[in-house]
Amino acid sequence: MEYEMIIWLEVHVRVKSKTKMLCSCKNAVALAPEPNINICPICSGFPGMLPQLNEEVVKLWLLWWMMMNCKINKVSRFDRKSYYYPDSPNAFQTTQLFDPIVGAGSVKTLVNWEEKNFWIHHMHLENDAGKLTHWGWKTLIDFNRAGSPLMEIVTDPVFTNAEDSVEFLREIQKLMRASKVSDADMDKGQMRCDVNLSIKPVGQEEFGIRTEHKNVNSFWAVSRVIASEYKRQLKIIKAWGVIDQETRGWDDDSGKSSSLRSKENAMDYRYFPEPDLLPIILSDDFIEETKKGIVEFPIERRIRYLKTHKLQPDDARLLTADYELSSYFEELFKLTNDAKKSCSYITTILLALIKDSEDEINISNLNFKVSQLAKVINLVNKDELSSTNSKLVIEELFNNWWNADEIIDSKKLRQKNDLSSLETIVDEVIKNNSKQVEDYRWWNENIFWFFVGQCMKASRWQGNPKIFNEILKKKL
Ligand SMILES: [Zn+2]
Repeated sequence: MEYEMIIWLEVHVRVKSKTKMLCSCKNAVALAPEPNINICPICSGFPGMLPQLNEEVVKLWLLWWMMMNCKINKVSRFDRKSYYYPDSPNAFQTTQLFDPIVGAGSVKTLVNWEEKNFWIHHMHLENDAGKLTHWGWKTLIDFNRAGSPLMEIVTDPVFTNAEDSVEFLREIQKLMRASKVSDADMDKGQMRCDVNLSIKPVGQEEFGIRTEHKNVNSFWAVSRVIASEYKRQLKIIKAWGVIDQETRGWDDDSGKSSSLRSKENAMDYRYFPEPDLLPIILSDDFIEETKKGIVEFPIERRIRYLKTHKLQPDDARLLTADYELSSYFEELFKLTNDAKKSCSYITTILLALIKDSEDEINISNLNFKVSQLAKVINLVNKDELSSTNSKLVIEELFNNWWNADEIIDSKKLRQKNDLSSLETIVDEVIKNNSKQVEDYRWWNENIFWFFVGQCMKASRWQGNPKIFNEILKKKL
């Protein structure tokens, strides 16, 4: 019998708001320099404290939902998920179960250049717990992170392989960055993923028993978890065994998973409506205001680069992997109207300079304006600068803050296209190399490039090689 797997994902993303979800403490998106410095009586769970919802968090949350084409519920509520653990000072988590702010939506991506849409079941907002560090027989508690807003995106069971799952996660990451809702850096714990997987005979409608892998923290690990769990379940089923519904932990070093606990049901958490927070009622004005934050989707850009600009698939992918980079490309293209050259100057020259630079330079803090790079490309297109020299000019721009014209003039790099002065140079070269001219005429056409080289040298590399070429062909 053939088996297939069904996967759904729960993605947790740390929202990049200035302050925490229910108090005015600084939101610890990156690691704070010291433990317990961004805390107050609300987020460390003192008795009698009343939380207050952060408007910015609701706005970022709503913005993201709008970008997913989700249905927005104008009235939504928070719930309490009760559990006791030392990292949760309130002994409950503020989350949404009964009335989340949005319903279903979808994310479009490209898998092997094929457009695919993946359905999201719902999304909800909740606050994070603190961080425990076990140190010998002691446990240290840091509440800097407690109360930070998290978004949880729960997909439908729509994935049947690892490749689709990872492409979906990559698209989520790009969208988060493009809309500035989160940096979604998996290395820094700003985005992590729970993988739910079950297998069933091909064609059977009913799903098998699922397992869940918690907190998988890289794309690579997600595809490894899927491959390994599929194999494990298949082995059990083929031996007439039964899959336990359980939560499993993944060890990236050994490439193995192990059972953590049997999976809880929602009932175990005794959810009930949060009595300390009012319902969220979204006004039309608030919704309209939030809509202004919607940006062009990275996936739409990628498809446009492929279809309209005819860029290579790898280049389109590279440019849109970083939203700032694709925005830079957009600006450059507006000034040059040459998509292919704009792309190649960014991907082959500029990114190499950024990579080799010892300073912390990235595409958004370059020393020169995008108009300077556009000028270089336009001069190349007008044959006023050779492509070899254009690289020199960009290096100077990158390192020395000059403007392109000054560099070109001071280094005498402007290409000469003036026919009569180039003709004089050709005449001179032919006159001074009479033996080679004879050779060329009688038997050795291969030395043609010798004459081009001599002309370039005589013009101090400023002559246009294409024009030299034409004159030489005529005169020789
Ligand atoms: Zn606080």
